[in-house]
Amino acid sequence: MISNDGGPVRRRALLRGVGALTAATTLTRSGTSTAAPLDWGVLRKRLQTKLLLPADGEYASAKQLFDPQFDTDSPLAVVRATTANDVAAAVAFARDNRLPLAARAGGHSYVGASATTGTVVVDVRGLDDITLTGDLVTVGAGATIRTVLAELAESGRSLPVGSCPSVGLAGLTLGGGLGVDSRRYGLTCDALESADVVLPGGGTAHASADQLPGLFWALRGGGGSAGILTSLTFRTHAAQDRDIVRLRFPTEAAARVLTGWARWLPTADRSVWSNVEIGTAAGTVECSVLMVTPAGQGAAAAAGLTAAAATTPASVTRRTLGHLAAADDIAGGSTIPRSTKIAGSDIVRELDAAVAGTIVDIVTARSRSGATGYVLVDPLDGAVRDIRADACAFPWRAHAATLQWIVDEPDSPEDARAWITGAHRTLGAASAGAYANYTEPGVTADRYYVGNVARLRTLARFIDPNRLLRTGITL
Ligand SMILES: Cc1cc2nc3c(=O)[nH]c(=O)nc-3n(C[C@H](O)[C@H](O)[C@H](O)COP(=O)(O)OP(=O)(O)OC[C@H]3O[C@@H](n4cnc5c(N)ncnc54)[C@H](O)[C@@H]3O)c2cc1C
Repeated sequence: MISNDGGPVRRRALLRGVGALTAATTLTRSGTSTAAPLDWGVLRKRLQTKLLLPADGEYASAKQLFDPQFDTDSPLAVVRATTANDVAAAVAFARDNRLPLAARAGGHSYVGASATTGTVVVDVRGLDDITLTGDLVTVGAGATIRTVLAELAESGRSLPVGSCPSVGLAGLTLGGGLGVDSRRYGLTCDALESADVVLPGGGTAHASADQLPGLFWALRGGGGSAGILTSLTFRTHAAQDRDIVRLRFPTEAAARVLTGWARWLPTADRSVWSNVEIGTAAGTVECSVLMVTPAGQGAAAAAGLTAAAATTPASVTRRTLGHLAAADDIAGGSTIPRSTKIAGSDIVRELDAAVAGTIVDIVTARSRSGATGYVLVDPLDGAVRDIRADACAFPWRAHAATLQWIVDEPDSPEDARAWITGAHRTLGAASAGAYANYTEPGVTADRYYVGNVARLRTLARFIDPNRLLRTGITL
């Protein structure tokens, strides 16, 4: 049994259906005394793996994330877990000593939440087994998009995942998981069948639709506030060869293309995916469209969009590739170098001419200032909408698109952040909120989770009564 510090919180949680958590807990909470002195030797003895402290030679590389802007952060320690027991030992030590915890998988947190100063980092990269059984794949929580896609491709299977090869499946799933299969198969979290979790309040749990459904609800889009994942099981789908089409449109057509794209895509077959990028380029604005379709269908899709946008593209390229090669092509390679990105997001319910015009104006203003930046407009229709907004923590099931504002390698990170904050302000009521996987400073939990935030907060307080987990989003 796990105990809980807050009686009323526990009662509310029970009412909301998470009480079964207690019944399935397999570890015993080991006490919460703060009196014990901090003795890393205690943790070292419990681990089958390395514990790295700031004085250790490997510490600097162990705490490194994808983005070099976080290289100056200094966690208290990094536990390089290789088993679920290592994770449990690290969590128990943190709980006994009231130390903040940061879970780290692929290391792509936009706010560096997975190796923040002052935390004990539980690095799960060593848990990277991938086992395909029938249509189900079970992956260790350290597996990345590319490693899973490559392993599945050997059996002709795939998963709906994001585009960046080194993003961790754990972090991706916990925030939702948007990618080129979303219209056909939904988000990464929609393909999750079950997961194993070490609970910060004590114990481990196996969560699925039938077992601990409250915890399972939170793991699909609710971020890392529901415990530390050690393994995840997903439903796979058949891999397929694809056409990749890239269209570049004249600057002055950007708003028209965006509006035409938003009208056309929901009419296209769900096997067709597409997004729009509008960005600054040498003092002007560029608009390009990426399309991913089943092999042989790219030309028809491009014609459909071109007609809807009533604009002839300045250039079109089309390639037919095998499933994994297509994933690499979309990502820009099977690996990508570390880089600094200042990013943020908005979710728009509608993408009509007024909203499209506002988006283009925001990028145009950035281009006039001589600085760089772009917005990626990704669809939220198709299978993403087959699920109710309250069926899991990811709430964006009736909206047109996510807008991801990005500045790569900014000369001034402050100026880049100000541009993105200004974009949120300019969009005003057209923006319904933000995507939790594009976490940004200063954005509150209710913007990421809207109608689901109260349930998620209650669950997080029940599961993590001492509020040890740091995720970049304060619930
Ligand atoms: C270059 C780049 C490309 C991206 N592309 C996409 C995309 O195509 N689609 C998309 O949807 N998103 C995309 N993202 C966003 C990405 O999904 C999130 O940043 C995600 O959180 C990264 O997961 P991670 O495991 O790599 O990161 P980490 O930094 O390791 O983890 C991020 C957070 O996830 C939680 N977490 C990680 N591991 C665990 C665990 N084992 N248990 C519990 N909590 C855990 C923690 O709260 C942690 O702070 C991209 C990000 C970048 C930087």
